[in-house]
Amino acid sequence: MQQTVKAYGTPAADAPLREMTIPRRSVGAKDVEIEILYCGVCHSDLHTARNDWGGTVYPAVPGHEIVGRVVSVGSDVTCFAPGDIAAVGCLVDSCRTCKNCAQDLEQYCTNGFTGTYNGKDKHMPELRTYGGYSGKVVVDDHFVLKVPAGLDLAATAPLLCAGITTWSPLRHWKVGPGSTIAVVGLGGLGHMAIKLAKGLGAHVALFSRSESKTQDALDLGADRVVISTRQEEMDAVAGTFDVIIDTVPYVHDLNSYIKTLSASGTLVLVGFLGDLQPMLNTAPMVIGRKAISGSLIGGIAETQEMLDFCGEHNITADIELINMQDINDAYERMLKSDVRYRFVIDMASLKN
Ligand code: NAP
Ligand code: ZN
Ligand code: ZN
Repeated sequence: MQQTVKAYGTPAADAPLREMTIPRRSVGAKDVEIEILYCGVCHSDLHTARNDWGGTVYPAVPGHEIVGRVVSVGSDVTCFAPGDIAAVGCLVDSCRTCKNCAQDLEQYCTNGFTGTYNGKDKHMPELRTYGGYSGKVVVDDHFVLKVPAGLDLAATAPLLCAGITTWSPLRHWKVGPGSTIAVVGLGGLGHMAIKLAKGLGAHVALFSRSESKTQDALDLGADRVVISTRQEEMDAVAGTFDVIIDTVPYVHDLNSYIKTLSASGTLVLVGFLGDLQPMLNTAPMVIGRKAISGSLIGGIAETQEMLDFCGEHNITADIELINMQDINDAYERMLKSDVRYRFVIDMASLKN
């Protein structure tokens, strides 16, 4: 059984996003049906809409930073009730049985997780998953998150991807009081990384190409800003950082950042997917036991942990609220790094 829902998506990699109607499954016994109030705009939405990574199936409806209100629940759902505020991030299903799912690492499901968009709906194999640029979503209750009371709902939406994607490596590499970390790139992920690392008690630096963002970074809580295009500033932080969270979406030279890791430090790539250029020089890695790693979003339990932490510490994103109809302009501005620091769509505008 299906229902139809109003959405905004794209029919092709080179076409702008526009209004469309999409199918969603009807509410099953374990499902939660959510009216979407706000949806954040992630750079991954743009990569998917434009098929930057290959594999986008069209029409595509992006959006995986979803906050909304529960409108109905299936007969076996006990944790949510109509009227509750709920959230959905990047995952809407996984196998639940593999060794990674068993350890609450659904994002690394060995059988492949179901993405909130551009995935296959396991319940109705003929249906695709469509993201949060839409009026409603139907999600298995295991993949629905609770939003702590008191947080601004629009500014909470970006926690569901930008928040968890930076929280997960901060926790995995045990960042806390006494840690010295750096963030590369001040966009949606980067600004959340600063706020969360500060919340965990770390000393935080920002690497940015954009001198104009220096004051913002300090206001967000960064202890120092290093302009990455200035050699003398890069030299001044050689051997400094225990962890670097690199959020840059496009290919860039990592060699200059590796030099700034302390012995046994790790640079965690969360932004760029693909072949690195130029090649990495292994000498600084071998001599200092330095590592390059990567990290993908976070599991459901860890996402709830992050939301609860944000509730306790009153952490949300700095956002610019836009109407659904402004999404194509927002994408162009995101490409120019002109976002301070996350666009969030007011989904009420979809009714206009
Ligand atoms: P964003 O808001 O556009 O921020 C990216 C920032 O990177 C920019 O603000 C800019 O910061 C810097 N930057 C952009 N282009 C650059 C270039 N060519 N060279 C150097 N720096 C550049 O993007 P976002 O939403 O934070 O997403 C960042 C990346 O993470 C995207 O590729 C996205 O797909 C990916 N992502 C990954 C995961 C995961 O699970 N691993 C989850 C979500 C998103 P400055 O102006 O400060 O230099
Ligand atoms: Zn995302
Ligand atoms: Zn699994």
